[in-house]
Amino acid sequence: MASRIPFNRVTAAGNELEYVAEAVRSDHISGDGPFTRRCHALLEQLLGAPRVLLTTSCTHALEMCALLLDIRPGDEVILPSFTFPSTGAAFLLRGARPVFCDIRPDTLNLDERRLPELLGERTRAIVAVHYAGVACEMQVLGEVAARHGLHLIEDNAHGLFGSWRGRPLGTLGCLATLSFHESKNLTCGEGGALVVNDPSHTERAEILREKGTDRSRFFRGEVDRYTWVDLGSSYLPSDILAAFLYGQLEARERIQAARRRAFETYRELLEGPAAALGLQLPTVPEDCRPAYHLFHVLFPDEACREQARSYMTAHGIKAVTHYEPLHLSGIGQRLGCRQGMCPVTESVARRILRLPLYPALTAAEQEDVVRTLVAAFHGQGRGTR
Ligand SMILES: *Cc1c(COP(=O)(O)O)cnc(C)c1O
Repeated sequence: MASRIPFNRVTAAGNELEYVAEAVRSDHISGDGPFTRRCHALLEQLLGAPRVLLTTSCTHALEMCALLLDIRPGDEVILPSFTFPSTGAAFLLRGARPVFCDIRPDTLNLDERRLPELLGERTRAIVAVHYAGVACEMQVLGEVAARHGLHLIEDNAHGLFGSWRGRPLGTLGCLATLSFHESKNLTCGEGGALVVNDPSHTERAEILREKGTDRSRFFRGEVDRYTWVDLGSSYLPSDILAAFLYGQLEARERIQAARRRAFETYRELLEGPAAALGLQLPTVPEDCRPAYHLFHVLFPDEACREQARSYMTAHGIKAVTHYEPLHLSGIGQRLGCRQGMCPVTESVARRILRLPLYPALTAAEQEDVVRTLVAAFHGQGRGTR
């Protein structure tokens, strides 16, 4: 049965469909056409980043990070266990060993206090994932990276338009990645971007993204033909996708304002019940402005969470769990990880529930979600219609 209130709903928020038609009518639907250039310019301006390059996914942008930083077999890369597999897979693909760090119980971000025991001679990089669009402890991460000569990368799939101490997320590491997958705040179905904050990586990033050729230089008239000059793959999206994305980017303020309103409404509606029922609501530190990517609730235990989830599903409301701890995945086990290595991650993965959050969600629907959640928690089985 389809949910009355789905977990996510994508809507064209502005001119997406007109721009797609315009792209198709133009003579350029492959990559790096007019809409890709407009997306690049707008993202560079909004972030204040020297170079942004659209990619086919956040995963591919992470693979580009591994290539740009020359990550090799034997290298170690530290990342949170509580993230999407791509955060580690991109580095594993280059032969590096992902080293899983536990998360903080408040923000659910990589716990910087655990770093000393994970750092070693082979450590090359730390990947910060700003969970739900709330910044990691970037002061400490920056200091640790500088002290040990490590690269600091941001997997900013959740955090576009969030900020830390007034600085946009995605501009705090030497490289950062964005996702425009259907499940993210802004989308073109499948897509992503690489944010190059250290300009020494710009030229090579353009080459890696274009099959290892210097085609970007050729298009700028800097060389009279282009050739194969380096490693590379095809990481650039069609201009049709860039056209859809440009429509979303133009509508960003409306999209973000609607998500923010929904986030704050949940907090108001849940504050009372949460205190009474022992639920933990999202923590947003003083120096962070979130990107309002998710609204999650932490239940006291897994049984409560499962009871609420199935009750809500039965009543037409789709609330969902989140990441399976990476250190307990098949890959994690092959790397020798065991239960108990990241206890906070393990506990959070069992207790977390994400509530429906999308721009078209109405306040009445949110009241319905909260009423159903509370009824489920009490196990009273009262309908909500
Ligand atoms: C969604 C997500 C990804 C993968 O994004 P794609 O664009 O689908 O490749 C990577 N990391 C995190 C933290 C994500 O949430």
